[in-house]
Amino acid sequence: MPNIITTSPSAFEMAFPAIVIGGGATGLSAALALRDRGVEVLVLERDRTPLGSTAMSTGLIPAAGTPEQRAAGIDDSPERFAADMLDKTKGRTDAEIALRLAEQSADTVAWLRDGHGVPLELVDGFLYPGHSARRMYGTPHRSGGELMGALEAAGARAEVTLLTEATVEGLHADGDRVTGVRIRRPDGAEEDIGCEALILACSGFGGNGEMVRRFIPEMEGAVFHGHPGNKGDAVAWGEALGASTADMSGYQGHGGLAAGHGVPILWPLIVEGGFQANARGERFSNEAAGYSEQAAKVNAQPGGVAWSIFDERLHRLMLQFDDYRDALSAGAVIEAADEAALAGATGLPGDVLAATIAGVANMVAGHEEDAFGRDFTGKPLLAAPYRAAKVTGALFHTQGGLVVDGDARVLRPDGTPLPNLFAGGGAARGVSGPGADGYLAGNGLLTATTFGKLAGFAAAALLAA
Ligand SMILES: Cc1cc2nc3c(=O)[nH]c(=O)nc-3n(C[C@H](O)[C@H](O)[C@H](O)COP(=O)(O)OP(=O)(O)OC[C@H]3O[C@@H](n4cnc5c(N)ncnc54)[C@H](O)[C@@H]3O)c2cc1C
Repeated sequence: MPNIITTSPSAFEMAFPAIVIGGGATGLSAALALRDRGVEVLVLERDRTPLGSTAMSTGLIPAAGTPEQRAAGIDDSPERFAADMLDKTKGRTDAEIALRLAEQSADTVAWLRDGHGVPLELVDGFLYPGHSARRMYGTPHRSGGELMGALEAAGARAEVTLLTEATVEGLHADGDRVTGVRIRRPDGAEEDIGCEALILACSGFGGNGEMVRRFIPEMEGAVFHGHPGNKGDAVAWGEALGASTADMSGYQGHGGLAAGHGVPILWPLIVEGGFQANARGERFSNEAAGYSEQAAKVNAQPGGVAWSIFDERLHRLMLQFDDYRDALSAGAVIEAADEAALAGATGLPGDVLAATIAGVANMVAGHEEDAFGRDFTGKPLLAAPYRAAKVTGALFHTQGGLVVDGDARVLRPDGTPLPNLFAGGGAARGVSGPGADGYLAGNGLLTATTFGKLAGFAAAALLAA
């Protein structure tokens, strides 16, 4: 259980100017920023290999107003990106923080790529729900594992000190000023390490069933497909030090986790023309509104499952994603020569499924309005052979957390910053508002990499003052 140890040792046997708890995208971005300023930093990671939710992700990071966008003729700006975040949350996020992150986003991608060798390129071919411009950057295989590998290699080059199998169990504090941390090693040994600035990069609370029940009851019992080591420690420590929290009910869900396989069937195949049908063979929602809010909608269907139905064109689009190729290898995607074979392979009632496919074709042609409000026009008709995957709704990542300012400083309820505490990524309140529907694709790694970078630079400035 995370705790605060108020009887601070007067002198720690070992001390670093800056400590970062958590070795995911947030922690490694923060550490790189600190090393850019010449600060010695210790990253503490509970696992043997730093992976986190970052390694499970698709690794897509949004950036607005980049030179690559301009070269591709894409009209975008930080203001436009911030407006998209506000629209997706229906105004239920902090507009200043959204703009700050959007303004920093292009710099973050360029800093990681050009400054630290993380291979990020502008992704083409689809637009995630809520984004008004193509602004996603990804690694060559669109993989969070690849992103983590590159961040770790960058950390090694920058001489970041990374200690793995080091679970932080408590913080030392003098009042609300953090003076150090207590770690536990796999053999049970405890060590105390001092610091002058602490960055909480130990993510959210998706791996803490009790907190999920309390704050996100609609996902109680849903599959959690995020990092199990993220147990809400940052929130517990922050609150004990007098910090404010917000949007604790906000989360990133996904309405397309391959049932029984645990591989995400990603949303480009939906937004580019695919659809979902329930066990009755009927559509039940506007799937294109967003994959996050779709999780609870899928779970409300008979058996808590749905079929994502698409075709050969969309199958080819999806082949760029490691996740999709993993789904193919796992046998999670079926292929069917025609509608009758699709009904046979999925077990969906053939007459209803045929009517649903015909209805989608009518909406693509603009002859019919969708009862759920989706606009199917502008996308090609689905055509045989078909592909389909049986999916369920999952919790990927929590979005609520410690309230931070534009420099990732953790704030008290009166808006003043704690003396030397910073947070980013899943540890901090994100920009997704209080529900699942406010999650705009990329919000997770935007807040991880950009708040991580800002926290590192701000901590370095504090140490230099
Ligand atoms: C399947 C999936 C797909 C996703 N795809 C995308 C995407 O394409 N784009 C996007 O923007 N977001 C995506 N996300 C969300 C994104 O992965 C997260 O928002 C992001 O990785 C959070 O980064 P983080 O560094 O804060 O947390 P993490 O990467 O989870 O890192 C936190 C680390 O802290 C460690 N830790 C926790 N507690 C302690 C402790 N007490 N002591 C020591 N170490 C501790 C953990 O072991 C972990 O390694 C996806 C998420 C999932 C699950």
